[in-house]
Amino acid sequence: MKPKPTTNAPQDAAARRAIQPVICYPVETLPRPDLSAYRALRNDLELVDRITVPARDAACWSVPAGHFCRILCIEGAQVGDLNLFNANNLAERLYTGKTRALNGTHVGLGDQLFSNMPYLRPIATITHDTLDWYGFDEFGGSVHDVIGTRCDPYTNNLLSHGGQYHHCCHSNLTRALATQTGKSLVEAEGHIHDVLNVFMCTGFTRETGQYFMKASPVRPGDYLEFFAEIDLLGCMSACPGGDCSSEHSSDAAACHPLEVEVYRSAHLPENWRPPQLNGYDRSHGV
Ligand SMILES: [Zn+2]
Repeated sequence: MKPKPTTNAPQDAAARRAIQPVICYPVETLPRPDLSAYRALRNDLELVDRITVPARDAACWSVPAGHFCRILCIEGAQVGDLNLFNANNLAERLYTGKTRALNGTHVGLGDQLFSNMPYLRPIATITHDTLDWYGFDEFGGSVHDVIGTRCDPYTNNLLSHGGQYHHCCHSNLTRALATQTGKSLVEAEGHIHDVLNVFMCTGFTRETGQYFMKASPVRPGDYLEFFAEIDLLGCMSACPGGDCSSEHSSDAAACHPLEVEVYRSAHLPENWRPPQLNGYDRSHGV
């Protein structure tokens, strides 16, 4: 349990609490993609690759720049923990922290996923989401969050007082990336990063601000689709938590595979180019 406050509230506590919040990054200043230009391409797509991500395991795949990628629920409600890398430079990868600061806690149609500093540029644009009807529920929950991190064996060890479980998303992603790249487990592990929780339904409790999850509303046939702004290497784990309705970090939950499809577009948006690396000059005031 968290301790109770030890400091008495000041006389103007209510006034201080009543100050209206300000959006950190107003969307008016964030360059937004021309979603209709991307979506216009969806009528003429050719399937070029299909990968199955086994239950309680992970797989890697490539998405060339200008291609579309779909993550599909195929058998039963299942959450996917997604890592994205620049296929030509693993040091550049999905940066959920800034993606969250710019888009909000959960991502969906029209949102762009950003890479880490010093690259900081859009690496993918979400072009379709069959769960976009969900919005935010009465608990403050929504789908596809960029707030969770990934279930991992270290936190499990901490919370279970010494438990050893090897099929947490972190380990699944580590094994899959090691196999894909030929790197050692230790080296591959260093590249695994905070995920986009595809299909996962999460939020923060109003009273205590605790991270919560609930059964994913995803059903077979649902999918999340994105356009690759640069050459991407995807790596995704079908979470041992299944639909994440109760627990992860164990084999207790019903678990299902996920499918990934890669599509080549017959055309590209006019004037589209992979986004440049971030324009900051990196002199840091020196
Ligand atoms: Zn997981």
